[in-house]
Formats: sequence, structure tokens, C-alpha cells
Amino acid sequence: MTQSAYDLIVIGEGISGLTCAGHAARAGMRVATFESTLFGGLVINVNELDGYSEGGHKSGTDLASGLMQSNSDAGVKSIQEGVSALRPGGIGFEVASDSGRYEARSVVIASGARLRKLGVPGEAEFEGRGVSSCADCDGPMFQNEDVVVVGGGDSALQEALVLAHYCRGVRVVHRRDAFRAQQRLVEQVRANAGISISWHATIEAILGGKMVEKVRIKHAGDGRTEEMPCAGVFAYIGLEPSAGFAPASIARDARGHLVTNTDCETSVAGIWAIGAVRSGYSGLLRDAVPEARRVAEAVRDRLD
Ligand code: NAP
Repeated sequence: MTQSAYDLIVIGEGISGLTCAGHAARAGMRVATFESTLFGGLVINVNELDGYSEGGHKSGTDLASGLMQSNSDAGVKSIQEGVSALRPGGIGFEVASDSGRYEARSVVIASGARLRKLGVPGEAEFEGRGVSSCADCDGPMFQNEDVVVVGGGDSALQEALVLAHYCRGVRVVHRRDAFRAQQRLVEQVRANAGISISWHATIEAILGGKMVEKVRIKHAGDGRTEEMPCAGVFAYIGLEPSAGFAPASIARDARGHLVTNTDCETSVAGIWAIGAVRSGYSGLLRDAVPEARRVAEAVRDRLD
């Protein structure tokens, strides 16, 4: 095998990808991981891991750093480059990155997902000037200010609770009249005096000067619009998969997630998909970690 050929290439250094790569390397495979940005994925923004205690890691950064270190000890090659294409070729598959070509006998796509954007005027303009997607990182900057959180899922409510520690008031703006988040989070939000809720409401625009100063909220019930003064806007309206590099021959669901069988193998034999890029992913670390280990074992069994 040449210097740039591997038994397994894992695309993405989120928790799923790092777990899979480490497990495979410890099973004797020659493994490389690719990452275009910072390792750790979306979990890196979480200060207190919710419902996941394996290894005693408290924050996403702790968990991801620990996995990076143990992967390095196990001989995983971490390549800090984005993947531009994945196609059949060579010893199985060819991975084209920003600066080179690599070969692998098998590939695990663990490239995760990005937060979806609201797509309203002002969102891009005020990014980093009041528009944020990381409550744990940016919350302290909104000390004693009012902020708006958009969405009704686990992310929106979890982050609203984080922001309530710092902010004078947190307004959750949700398009329906019921949250889809876990009951435990719903109850905590309802019990928090610092959090108010606008039901049947959406954000029409984010407005300000140098920084965010207010949002325009549209109330679906009576069609009224309201301008609410605030210093921050945090939108958690779901995720979109990061899989633009994956071959078109891999089946996708209606939202672009990669479809897999029960063993997480895609419609192209030899390419697996795990974590948030995969259709049907639960969104929970306690499912993602065992799934990643199972796939590492499946890859090893296939190569034997
Ligand atoms: P999500 O579950 O897909 O929820 C997205 C929310 O945004 C929904 O309430 C949705 O409204 C709303 N929404 C979607 N498009 C919108 C739009 N254009 N305008 C306004 N609102 C919009 O996303 P998520 O909360 O990021 O969670 C993603 C996954 O991670 C889930 O599986 C979740 O369970 C998991 N997660 C788990 C934890 C935890 O365990 N602590 C924490 C965070 C995330 P509707 O309800 O009307 O569809």
C-alpha cells in the first residue's frame, strides 16, 4: 500500500467519525480521517454534555480532544483538508481533497450536518454582530440583554436555557403551538421565568445598525407584525447534511441525508454513513458512539 492508501478513510472528525476511526485503528486497520474545519463537529459548542457520560467527559471539547488524542496514539492519520470528491477507483475508492488524492479500501462518511439558516434579511449581514449559533460561546456577550431563539426542537430549548443564565430575557419564537423537544427540556423552559414564548410566530427580518437591535416577528394567528428590541438572535431550526462531495449514486432522502441499511452501509457497497449525515439518525450521542463502533467492526469484517 502506498503512503496515501488506507484500509479505511473516515470523512469528518465529529464524535461519530473520531470514534469510528479510533476503533478501526485499534482493530489493526490503517486509517485516515479528513476534516476541513475544527475537529469535534457541532458538539464542540456544547459546554455540558446532555445524557452522555461515557469516559466522564463534561463538555464537547473534552470529549473531542480526548478522542483526537487516543486516535493519534492508535496511529490514525488526521488530515486537515476538505474532501471535494469521493469516487470508485484504485484499491476501492479515491478521495480527492483540497490538495491531493488518497485511496481507500472502504470509506465511512461522517461529515455531519450544518445548522440551517433562517434565510431572512439581516441574517448574513449581522453574523458575528448579534447573530450567533453558539449559546455557550457567545452567551456571556449578551449579559443583561434580550435575545431571541428560533425553533422548537431540542437544540432551541437547550440553548435557550443556556442563554437564560446570562441574558435579561430570552424569547423563544416558534412557528407552531407545540414544541417537538424532549419533555424534560420543555418543562425546564416553561418553568424558567427568564424565558417567554411566541407561538405561531416567525422571524421576518433582523434589523440594526452596527449590531443587531431588533427583530421583526410575524404572528400567524392575526397576521400582526411586531418589532422586538433585542441584541442577539440564535436560530436552531434543524440541520442540513454536509454531503455535497458524496457520489450521486448514493441514495438520499428528501432532505439530502444519505440513506443506509440497518448496518449503516449506503447504497454503494463499501461506503458507510454514520451520525448526522445519515437518514434516520437520532441526534443523540449515546446512539452515535455505539453506531460508530459497530460500523468500524463491520468494515473490518468486510476487509478480512
Ligand atoms: P429539529 O429537531 O429538526 O427541530 C427544528 C425546529 O425548528 C423545529 O421545531 C421546527 O419546527 C423548527 N423549524 C424548522 N424550519 C423552520 C423554519 N424555516 N422557520 C422556523 N422554524 C423552523 O432540530 P434540532 O433541534 O437542531 O435537533 C436536531 C437533532 O439533534 C434532533 O434529533 C435532536 O433530538 C438532537 N438534539 C439532541 C439534544 C439532546 O439530546 N440534548 C440536543 C440538541 C439536539 P416544527 O417543530 O414545526 O417542525
